[in-house]
Amino acid sequence: MNDRDQDRYSRQIRFSEIGLSGQEKLLDARVAIVGCGALGSFHAGALLRAGVRHVRLVDRDYVEANNLQRQWLYVQEDAEHARPKAEAAAQHLRKIDSECQPEPVVVDLTADNIADVLDGAQLILDGTDNFETRYLINEFAVQHGIPWIYGAAVGSYGITMPVVPGSTCCFSCLYPQPPTGIQPTCETAGVVNAVTSAIASFQVSVALQVLCGRHFEARITTMDLWTGKLRQVRQPPARTDCDVCGRRRFPHLAGRHRAPISLCGRNAVQIHDRSRPVDLTSLKTHLFPFGEVRANELALRFFVPPYEMTIFHDGRAIVKGTSDPGIARKLYAQYVGN
Ligand SMILES: [Zn+2]
Repeated sequence: MNDRDQDRYSRQIRFSEIGLSGQEKLLDARVAIVGCGALGSFHAGALLRAGVRHVRLVDRDYVEANNLQRQWLYVQEDAEHARPKAEAAAQHLRKIDSECQPEPVVVDLTADNIADVLDGAQLILDGTDNFETRYLINEFAVQHGIPWIYGAAVGSYGITMPVVPGSTCCFSCLYPQPPTGIQPTCETAGVVNAVTSAIASFQVSVALQVLCGRHFEARITTMDLWTGKLRQVRQPPARTDCDVCGRRRFPHLAGRHRAPISLCGRNAVQIHDRSRPVDLTSLKTHLFPFGEVRANELALRFFVPPYEMTIFHDGRAIVKGTSDPGIARKLYAQYVGN
């Protein structure tokens, strides 16, 4: 290790559970963060400061003003320019450490692209906001033997659990089916920023232990940060009848579960089953007669009151102002094409 790094990480090296050998492992580590919102933006900053410079940042969304209350890396200017979160996060990480090598990936993680997007990751951190993507990550991680760390926060409540294939239960052992009924979301129940950093901190602490090759006690941690209640239980063993880690069936990876996802935190639908490059400059010209349109090289925003469409260069779109997938699809078909 060079003198710069010896000094930069001296307080962490002095912590005996990490030490010099652990620090060297962190400097070589390759981590993927899926979802760069409240949890993911915290993971990225904290891991980089700990010496994890190779971070892949996966996020489909762009920064909005109402994100700034809890999404730790972003600044007002990111929201004013509607910067894609992965790109904005990468820019800020380079300011924290000029030797950082972030890899921003502005996509929606799907069965079709997960093998490419997560290729080479030795650890995956969950910063997503939905069960479908977590099932996808879980199946990929179990299939390839990659540890991942589940985390979720809404209101003042949070939960986290590590999944280490071969040694802990998996996400499907715990949740064979997604929860039914109306679930609280950041939009309906709001979210307190402190719970997001607390859950993300637990995830980062386990990540450091996994990356340093340390043994750790696998626990499910739940907390309500408003009342100060914290509960930890030992993780149950893997279920032999679990479809994923027991029977090694991977239905989400096979693409048999796919639906438009209503995003957390707003009234919006994403059209993600489009995979065709869109020339945003031509599209801007095309849409100009129909309404206000703004574009940069990464995304185009088109206003059709009461809706607002953001179209990305890979053909994905986020339609704001509705939670009806049918309306979103209709607008997409109307203005971008089938
Ligand atoms: Zn399982």
